[in-house]
Amino acid sequence: MLVIGPHISTAKGYAAAARDVINMGANTFQFFSRNPRGSSFRALETKEIIAFQELRRKNNFGAIQAHAPYTMNLASPDSRVYDFSCGVLKEDIMRMDALSIEYFVFHPGSHVGTGVDAGIKRVADALNNALSGGENITVLLETMSGAGTELGFRFEQLKRVIDLVRYKNKLGVCMDLCHVFSAGYDIKNDLNGVLEEFNNQIGIERLKTIHLNDSRFPLNSGKDRHTPVGKGEIGLSAIIDIIKHPRIRDLPFYLETPLDNNGHKREIEMIKKLSERR
Ligand code: FE
Ligand code: FE
Ligand code: ZN
Repeated sequence: MLVIGPHISTAKGYAAAARDVINMGANTFQFFSRNPRGSSFRALETKEIIAFQELRRKNNFGAIQAHAPYTMNLASPDSRVYDFSCGVLKEDIMRMDALSIEYFVFHPGSHVGTGVDAGIKRVADALNNALSGGENITVLLETMSGAGTELGFRFEQLKRVIDLVRYKNKLGVCMDLCHVFSAGYDIKNDLNGVLEEFNNQIGIERLKTIHLNDSRFPLNSGKDRHTPVGKGEIGLSAIIDIIKHPRIRDLPFYLETPLDNNGHKREIEMIKKLSERR
């Protein structure tokens, strides 16, 4: 069965978020592990956690994904930013693992002029510091557009981070469709070629989740601007082909499209209809 859901806020609680998602016809969601532009998070009451877990179970939810805050930069040369980021990474992996969240995704970060090699080393060091090896959660590096000094817009950069980490079995990749396309991977006209490249560079078994976005800007633009599915340069038919692809169709899809709950409900309906399995 297709596992699909929106990115939504858990500000009103995890159970409330799960209920909203069910009302949208979805069976999973993505949320921020804490305030995306700050550092705060809400302490959860046992009652809320129990209600959330029960909703997941009774409604056959697929894997849920937590997204790290944007204030995290694990490739930063600034020790204040770096230490803060390392702390958030470690703490949120633990918090999300305790909630039985399946995936924790983060942006590899920006090296801010110190170079790709230095950035990659810092990201890997942070992961080595954060992971104990006993986690159930899988930590995912997100494919990026390559805006500014962002790392992770080439598959080989993600592979180099993974290679430096001790507990590689806890790591995977979340492919953001808008990001890979704007980074120059032509998923519109050569999906098989891109997947082959992913397999050669990283290994296709590391591809765990998809950010389902269309792109405002064309192939290789290096610009990160999401649009609703079918409203961008990738286009509806290519995105449906991606969702139906045998190497991808069993992965969870998280919509990061600029729509409200009603918009997401309609978008999910449309995608389900067009990607129906026979
Ligand atoms: Fe992201
Ligand atoms: Fe994304
Ligand atoms: Zn993006």
